[in-house]
Amino acid sequence: MRKAWSILPDEWKAVLQERGLRPFRADQILHCLYRDWISTWDDATTLPKELREQLKTDFPLTVAEVVEVSQSSDGTEKLLVRFEDGNTVETVLIPAKDRFTQCISTQVGCGMGCAFCASGANGVVRSLTADEIVAEYMLARRRGEITNMVVMGMGEPFANYDETMRALKLINAGKGPNLGARHITLSTCGVVPGFARLASEGIQFELSVSLHAPTDELRSELMPVNKRWPLDELLRACAEYTKATKRIITFEYTVIKGVNDSREMAETLARVVKRVPMAKVNLIPLSPVDHRPDFKTPDDKTMLMFLDVLMRAKVQTMLRRSRGKDANAACGQLRARSLPPRGIRRAATLNPQPSTFSPQ
Ligand code: SAH
Repeated sequence: MRKAWSILPDEWKAVLQERGLRPFRADQILHCLYRDWISTWDDATTLPKELREQLKTDFPLTVAEVVEVSQSSDGTEKLLVRFEDGNTVETVLIPAKDRFTQCISTQVGCGMGCAFCASGANGVVRSLTADEIVAEYMLARRRGEITNMVVMGMGEPFANYDETMRALKLINAGKGPNLGARHITLSTCGVVPGFARLASEGIQFELSVSLHAPTDELRSELMPVNKRWPLDELLRACAEYTKATKRIITFEYTVIKGVNDSREMAETLARVVKRVPMAKVNLIPLSPVDHRPDFKTPDDKTMLMFLDVLMRAKVQTMLRRSRGKDANAACGQLRARSLPPRGIRRAATLNPQPSTFSPQ
């Protein structure tokens, strides 16, 4: 049985035919799914009743619900999404002047174990399927228009490559939600085999790489993935990716007070980044996480010093700020939660009114 939100628009004709259904229904079905944003097949009232019934059995819509909404004072909203098996992930909606960004999760928890990140503090429970990743988008989309997507929630997308890619291709598809590839950014902690795979897709998704340390010694301490794929291999994969795709790579560098924030580190970082043609750097101050109270946010002066060193070395650099900190919705603060069985919390926390976002 295939879930409807895991079927790419181009595949619908063939899957209908396989089931002895009329292929010409594909366009109508796509319209119901991605223009009317139906949440049950019963709402697909343009389709004949028998077809709706058959779609329910053959291509069910994924069961997923928003069980909690946390609002941050900066307008960021964090949705807690629960799937059929009771597992939950968090997805974050981030309004800005000219865009509305959704940050999505690809796994329940994360297996990469980066020291500073809450998502990995308890390991990975399971990967999401493509339709579950699409469901995160659908739940958010029903609340308002989304212009950009970042795969920067819980989980490592390259550790769940196939399902993540299928979901992103669907969200990008013209007859699907039609979100432009250049408006979709994948972020990896450096799972090297993913780079060549992504390059071979020939789709213009944006790619970010979480670097966070410019030496193997420190990076292995902060990010266990570095022991498997050390800097040399990672940078080579990045360079090959930019050569093959002619696309920029953005290195994310989370600055942690007293850990990776010295002038010397900044200078080393500049040298490392220059090994990759067409690379730029985003500097982000650490968001505090409960399990590592010893990791502290750096002050503005340190961030500016870091920026200055990189700029002088002619590395294109941006200072970013994390959004949604007071709702635990900022970078690295998302986590898996266990909830009471279905139905208990729901009545109290589900916001049944679809709301639209007002652009700021
Ligand atoms: N696994 C992918 C996707 C997660 S993206 C990756 O590692 O890239 C989330 C981003 O937030 C990553 O760059 C991650 O390193 C960063 N991050 C994690 N914990 C953080 C924290 N406490 N403060 C700031 N950024 C953090």
